[in-house]
Amino acid sequence: MEQEIAYLNGKFLPISEARVPVLDRGFIFGDGVYEVIPCYGGHLLRLDEHLQRLQQSLDGIRLANPLSMEEWKGILRHLVEHNPAEDQSLYLQITRGVAGRDHGFPEETSPTVFAMSKPLQSPSPSLLRQGARAITLPDIRWDCCHIKAISLLPNVLLRQQALEAGADEAILLRDGEATEGAASNLFIVKDGLLLTPPKDNRLLPGITRDLVVELARNTGIPHQERAISETDLRTADEIWLTSSTKEILPVTRLDGKPVGKGRPGEVWKQMYQQYQQYKQRLREGSEETAGAPA
Ligand code: PMP
Repeated sequence: MEQEIAYLNGKFLPISEARVPVLDRGFIFGDGVYEVIPCYGGHLLRLDEHLQRLQQSLDGIRLANPLSMEEWKGILRHLVEHNPAEDQSLYLQITRGVAGRDHGFPEETSPTVFAMSKPLQSPSPSLLRQGARAITLPDIRWDCCHIKAISLLPNVLLRQQALEAGADEAILLRDGEATEGAASNLFIVKDGLLLTPPKDNRLLPGITRDLVVELARNTGIPHQERAISETDLRTADEIWLTSSTKEILPVTRLDGKPVGKGRPGEVWKQMYQQYQQYKQRLREGSEETAGAPA
């Protein structure tokens, strides 16, 4: 099989040939940030928004952006064109570079820049028909969840705990509120009103989340950005999780109990359709995509 092409520090190369020294601060400290950008039929979804979030994450860890927005777009475009899948998930990561192991920032180091593409698999029709299972867990992460940091150990442990409990995702509780999933944002529907928590330091400002809020606004689905209490979550008619790879996933069991009627809800169906239509317009090139190939 043809090897997937990746980007590392200025070069495109087969992924199996990409190497990073062991003293890279990404390896030693998890000192870096990343992005995941979905790409449908050669068109990157909300590329400018992803690159803006990348800039905010870099600002959050006090690391200068090593590339201009145009350079990023060029790299991503090249990866999309040189990888075979129709739909792709683009991953990029920047670390503070290679230096002797010392917590303080190194004085003279250039950041390590890496990007790759893999085939994007949207949730299967059977998962969408049945809905996902989620469990609630206390949020054991830090106070800077708005930074898309590569140090994901708490998220890894939370997701694994969910998997071992026979669930697909963990929904995280902090200060009596449900904030987001281990790798997804959270929406609920209660009495016809769509709710998602406002963006703050306790959750990642999801690009899919923002798109769903925008689609709700455009289609006249009543919605509000406000805190979701644990009670709101447990009495919700519908629960959804959103992310670049999960799109909008309906949760039909929470902690082993049915959510609402125990099947994907009517508001989800409406929003899912809107999202698929958005993707279709993107594929056709009729949604504005600054990074889309000509
Ligand atoms: N929250 C967390 C903790 C995540 O890891 C992710 C996905 N990486 C999201 C939310 C969803 O973000 P997006 O819609 O940009 O994929």
